[in-house]
Order: sequence, then structure tokens, then C-alpha cells
Amino acid sequence: MHAYVAAGGYVTRDDDDVLARLAAADLRGRGGAGFPALRKLESLRAAAAGERVVVANGEEGEPLSVKDRYLLRFRPHRVLDGLEHVARLTGASRTYVYASDADGLRAVSVALKERDPSMPVDLVACPGTYVAGEETAAVNWIDRRDARPTDKPPRPFEQGVDGLPTLVANVETLAALAALCRAPQGDSSAATFLATISTPDGARLVELPSGLPMRVLAEHCGLEPGGAVLMGGFFGGIVPLAAVAALEPAALRTLDSSLGCGALLALGRGHCPVGVAAAVAAYFARHNAQQCGVCQHGTTAVSRLLAAVRDGQADARTIAELERLAALLPGRGACALPDGVARLVRTLIAHFGELVRMHADADCEACREAGAAFGASDFRVEPPASDKARATETCA
Ligand code: SF4
Repeated sequence: MHAYVAAGGYVTRDDDDVLARLAAADLRGRGGAGFPALRKLESLRAAAAGERVVVANGEEGEPLSVKDRYLLRFRPHRVLDGLEHVARLTGASRTYVYASDADGLRAVSVALKERDPSMPVDLVACPGTYVAGEETAAVNWIDRRDARPTDKPPRPFEQGVDGLPTLVANVETLAALAALCRAPQGDSSAATFLATISTPDGARLVELPSGLPMRVLAEHCGLEPGGAVLMGGFFGGIVPLAAVAALEPAALRTLDSSLGCGALLALGRGHCPVGVAAAVAAYFARHNAQQCGVCQHGTTAVSRLLAAVRDGQADARTIAELERLAALLPGRGACALPDGVARLVRTLIAHFGELVRMHADADCEACREAGAAFGASDFRVEPPASDKARATETCA
């Protein structure tokens, strides 16, 4: 902790100063949705007077992402610093750190012994399911219900933990907020983001400045320029790497993609985008909460149809049905999982339409070799076991 304090950590700033820094940096949530952090904070500040709650959400359900576990395990003071700032700004009297990673929670517990925070911090171990990191799932679990998303409204800032106004913030968002507060006034570049970059050869965690040209990242990480990339964990769809100008929301929106949790998988020659999309859809079908009709029917149907395309058992009607479902699914679930399924289908057809149609006419060697046994769990990335040899690297 001493090193963190010596580097400017745990500095106290007045509310207007912190809010101005957040506005200047246009800090967005790093959990996946990319919602403006300032708007979320203002929602809680505007809530009726009384007790308020802040939850540091470190539950990282995305198989391709390790950054939240990295922060909890190796940089817990960054998270706690951000949590203190947000508690102060919102007048919260109770805070939680919520995660399934036992090593991460242990490290936070040690950090709390080093620094006695100004507000109570409870550590909550949740189940490590895909949907447990969704904000209403976090509230439900803390309130001793199943860690499953529920319909909104009410949103947590209206009715959260114990019915109190609650802000659920991703741990990287909190760490970025703390970095902005540590930085000299006007330096918005401090809010770098952490990206998990995977290739068939392995994964690395990289610290990136906002808006980094994709060309620079591809050179740094040795990504195949002509390949495809699965963006945003499983939520940003699948796009040609060469089409991604920069790793920033506006550039990705032009491709119907998104940065999501900052994880990306660059596919190698042995990975066909169709086979990978089928594997991701199968993962969604297995790991959704099976409580909304849209997942019970729509997500399952997309998985079945993409498997048929991959296996050469599809025709034009299959593709038309995929397009119909992709238009139907968004916004219909208690969480955003169906939106992710729809984006996967839309981007596959928009960017790799020829390849999709080719699967109806001819055998795909990559899909045949990988076969149905190839699953999204094959992509699962684990955080580094130790921080001895710098777990993150900087790419700029
Ligand atoms: S949309 Fe799907 S994953 Fe989300 S809560 Fe409903 S059933 Fe669960």
C-alpha cells in the first residue's frame, strides 16, 4: 500500500473536482455496457435522501477476460481507492466488493487490513456463472436471492441492495476513476484501459490508451492482419481485424461491434469465423439463466441454426431465420445476453456473409477438423498466477 500512496493513491479531492475529471475523460463503464460513469454516479446522487450503497463488481463471467481478476488479485488498492471516491461522492454508508474469485477476494481482504477505509466494506463471494456479474444479479445475490438478472425497471439506483439506492460499478471502472483522481488536473490520459488479447498461442493482458490504432496493437501482439477477431469478450460480435480502425467505441460502432469488457480473440488460420460463432452461440445457450422466454427459445434456436451452418446442413432459409432472430432478440431479456447473441449473428452475416453461404454449398475444412467438439470453453483464459514478472504490459 505504501507504494500506492507514494504514487498519489488515496488522495482526497472535493466532489466538483472529481466530477469535472470524470466529465473531461468521458469515463465509460468497463464491465461491458460502456455506460457513462458520470451519469450513473449522478443517478445515485439524485436519489432520495437516506442510506445508499455502492457495489464494486469484480465478477468476470466473460471467459476471454482476466482484467477484473487481475485488479482484485494484484492491484486491490486501486479498486478500493475508486470505491472510496464513489462512496464519498454518493454519500454511501455501505459498500461491497462482489466477486467469485477466491484469490481476488483474499487479496482485497489483505488490502483492507493495510488501509482502514472510511466506510464499511463487505466482501461477498458469488457463484462464478456467466450471468452473475450483471448488476441486478449482484444485488439479488447480496440480498440472499439467486444471482440472476431481473427485469428493469427498477434499476439498482432506484431500488438495489435491501431496497436502497445502489450503484454497481465494475472494478476496472473504479480503478480508472482512482487513476483520474491521482493524475494532474486536466490529464485524462490516465484512464487507460486493460485489454485481454488472446490468440491461438495464448493470452496477454495489455494496458492501452484510449483510441489506440488497431494497427499498433496488432503489431505489438503479433496478430494476423488478414484474420477475424471476436470483439468485446463474447458481446462485440465477430469482425475482420483489418476493418477495425481503432479500439474505441465510435470506430467499433461503425462495424456494429463494441469494446465490451475489452477482451478480444484474434482467430488463427485453423479457426473459421462460422465455427467460432457457433461455439460462442452454444456457450450462450448453455450458460444463460434459462428464465426468460427469449433465451429459452431464441438463444437456443440461434445456437442450433449456427451449428447447422457450421456442419454444412443449412440452406438459404436457415440464414434467413438467423437474420429474423437477430432482429427479434435485442432488448427482450432481463439482461443483455440476447443482445450479444443478436450481434454475433448480425456481424457474422454482415462481415462474413460469403463464408456463411459457402458453408451451405461446400465442406469447410477448418470446421470439419474442429468439429462440434470445439467449444467456447476452449477459449477460456486464466489470469496470471503471480505478479512477479509484470502481469500487464503497456502498448501505445
Ligand atoms: S435474458 Fe437470458 S441470460 Fe438474461 S436473464 Fe433472461 S434468461 Fe437469463
